This record gives sequence, structure tokens and C-alpha cells, in this order.
Amino acid sequence: MNMLELWIHSVIKKLFAEDQEFRNYLGKTSLEKVSKEDVQKYKMFKLRKMLNYVYEKSPYYKKHFSKQNIKPGDIKTFEDMVKIPLTEPEDLAENPNNFLCVSQGEILRGFTTSGTSGRVKRTLYTMDDLLRIGESIIAGFKMVGMTGGDSVQITFPIIAEWDPWFLLEKAVQYAGAIPILAGMLAVEEQLKKLKESKATMIIGIASYIHRLTRVAKKSLDLKNFGIKGIILSAEPWPEAVREEIQEAWGCKAYSQYGTAEMGLAVSLECDVRDGLHLNDADFFVECIDPETGEQLKSGEEGELVFTTLSRRGMPLIRYRSYDISWLIDETCGCGASTIQKMGKVKGRLDMQHKIGYGKKIYPLLFDEGIVKIPDIINWQVVIEEEEAKDKLTIKVEVTEIPSEEELKNKITEELMKIEEITESLARAAITEPKIEILKPGTLKTTHKSKSIIDARKTYE
Ligand SMILES: [Zn+2]
Repeated sequence: MNMLELWIHSVIKKLFAEDQEFRNYLGKTSLEKVSKEDVQKYKMFKLRKMLNYVYEKSPYYKKHFSKQNIKPGDIKTFEDMVKIPLTEPEDLAENPNNFLCVSQGEILRGFTTSGTSGRVKRTLYTMDDLLRIGESIIAGFKMVGMTGGDSVQITFPIIAEWDPWFLLEKAVQYAGAIPILAGMLAVEEQLKKLKESKATMIIGIASYIHRLTRVAKKSLDLKNFGIKGIILSAEPWPEAVREEIQEAWGCKAYSQYGTAEMGLAVSLECDVRDGLHLNDADFFVECIDPETGEQLKSGEEGELVFTTLSRRGMPLIRYRSYDISWLIDETCGCGASTIQKMGKVKGRLDMQHKIGYGKKIYPLLFDEGIVKIPDIINWQVVIEEEEAKDKLTIKVEVTEIPSEEELKNKITEELMKIEEITESLARAAITEPKIEILKPGTLKTTHKSKSIIDARKTYE
């Protein structure tokens, strides 16, 4: 049994036991086994309640709905949701208090995030909101096999304002396991702490754990640490990173997704690691075509848009994530058949560029291949225009160059695995990609949003 699914069912059963209105809505007198249809109905029931709640309590949403002449009662199906305009992160950055549905006194904690645009966004949570998030994290941890005997090394940065470790620490404790707050220590110190603490699981930012693994495996057999699971969080990362981490530590690595605005915990992979199981108890998720706003079907790639179903302090309705992924409705290999999954996030909308006849490229496409080549420490793709075609230059920074020819061949080989490039080449929409090998320290950027530079002239 998938433990996250089990928890979601228990949430639905609890509501069924307590709420006559929900029992009527479901049209059932008993609820022993929760079906996929029951989960869908639960979400619709919660969604309608939530829309009424924000319309009444949140100044932002009152205005947001009224501008379009929408009443919460107009939303009767999931498809109707497109009538409500999207909520932009910028609106939240501008005036978070406008979103508040409770008094300031009821707010226990806020999460701050700067995001890629650089503007600070602050999301505020009540005690109940945080307890609920904690519960969902516990269910997720159990799904990946955490038990009372485990110790979990938490390697997120410990910064007062942005503190996922606070929630994680409590969730690990309530799951019966032992949390170890390590933060993003230097490699040597982190390894020392891992040994001392006898940690059995690690959770942290993917790029940090990858770097730790790369450095440490040179001199140590990491399999001796006895780690049984690693949860990789935050930014999009290529499968090659997972493979390297799994092989080095001799355990499974799981992808986790969440943003500060959504309360950090939204979805997590199960043992099958084919899509991330969503917390259907607390979120209604849409995948939309960012250009037309249309809702996409299961399997179609687009932007994820979130609506919170349980939050009291600062609920968000149709909140844009700018993250590119897709929804999965099929039954999972783990047996979970009633809850939804999402694909592993590919990148952010603002990191995506169109080449040739509209093929979309984003940093992760290049990361997948380039990360496998050990000498490369940094890379950048520059898009220019040459004789009415798009020209790509792949600049790579290396530690040492054994043979420039050999390295260029390796890179070309990886580039030719990218469908977006080969198809554009076949249709003569781009010129042959150029490769430039650079010495260390030449490429100044490490930020993912700077990995692809669009240097084409625009005629707007
Ligand atoms: Zn599964």
C-alpha cells in the first residue's frame, strides 16, 4: 500500500465521518473503500468551499473574482476553473497581507522566498496550516520507507527566514525517526557528521547532494555509510544526477517537489520513481498551456498551476508556478490508483527558449547529457541568428582538456540525443551547433536561468 495514498484516504474518511454536507455530496452512507471517484468528489467539495472562503475573507480574491464578474458558485466542475484568472507570484510579492484570510494574530510563521525574479514573496501560515503540512510530510516519508529506526540528515540551508528544516525536523520526529540538522556544511564536515549521526536517510537540495557525492566518492566508498534513501529537492535536476548518486551510495534517490508558497511539500516519488505522487488531500493541480490558458490532458506538458484546498491563513487559488511538467492519471506501478501524479519538473517557463520552428529548449535538456561528462564543470548555450536560421553555441568550462577533439565528440554525441536539436537540424531550421571549450573561471555564471542566453534580435 502506498502510504501517502493511505493518508489521503484517511483524511477523506475523517471528513466523511464528521461532515453531513460532505456525506450528502458524496451520496453515500458509508465509506469503507475510497475510490478514485471519491477522491475527485472530495477535491471538488473542498474546492467549492475554498472558493467561498477566499471570496468572503481575502481582499485580494474578492477583487480578483469581482473584476471578472465571477461568483464562487459559478465553478461547478474542474473545467470551470479556467474562468478564474491566474494568480501571479508578483501579486503576492507586492502585498501578501492582501491575501490573508485570518487576523495577523493567528499567523504562526511565514516562509520567505526570493524566487528567480528576485522579488521577495512571503507566505503566512497558521498553526493548523503547519500541522497539516507536517502530517502530509510524514505520510510522504513513510511512502519512501522511513520508519521509527531511521535517522534523517537534513542538509537544507539553515536560514532563519526560509526554514524548511523547521517543518522537516518536526515531521521526522512525529514519524518516530531522529532528525539531524546539518545544514549545507562543507563536504568534509558533512561526511563527518553523517558518520557520527549514523544517519540512514539524507534530504537536501539536489545540486548540493550531487556535489557532495562527486567530491566524497573520489576518496571514500560511500556505500559503507549505510544510507537507505536520499530525497532530492528543489531545482530541476537530470536523471544522470540520480544515477550517479544512487550508484555511489548504493540506495534509491527520490525526487521531491514543493515551493515556499505551497508550504514546501507538494509531491514526492514512491519506490517506483516514475512520477511524483501529489498530495491530493490539500491541492487541486492543473497543467495549462501558458500561451492559451487551456487546461491540458494527462501526459501533456505545460505549466503547473496550484490551488490550495485546506489552507486557512493564506490560501492561493490558481497560483502560477512557472514550472514545466505534466500530470499523470494512470495507476502507478506501486499500486496507487486513486491519486494523481506529476512528472519531474523540467524547468521554469522563463528559462525556456524556442528554436527553429518552435521547438522548446531549456537547461535540463543539456544537463542530462553534459553532467555525464566528468571534466565539464560549467556550461552555457548561446542562441544567435545566422542567415535566417538559429545558431547554437555550446560553451563548456573544463577542469582539464585531455583531448579537445575527443571532448567535442562526446558533447556532440550527447547533443544528438536531444530530439529538439536533431529535429530542428533535420528541418534545416538551425545550423550545426558549435562547441567552444573554455578554461576554468571563464564562464562566470552558475545560475540556471543564465544557462541559455538568447542573443537573437527581436523585432517587437
Ligand atoms: Zn507510486
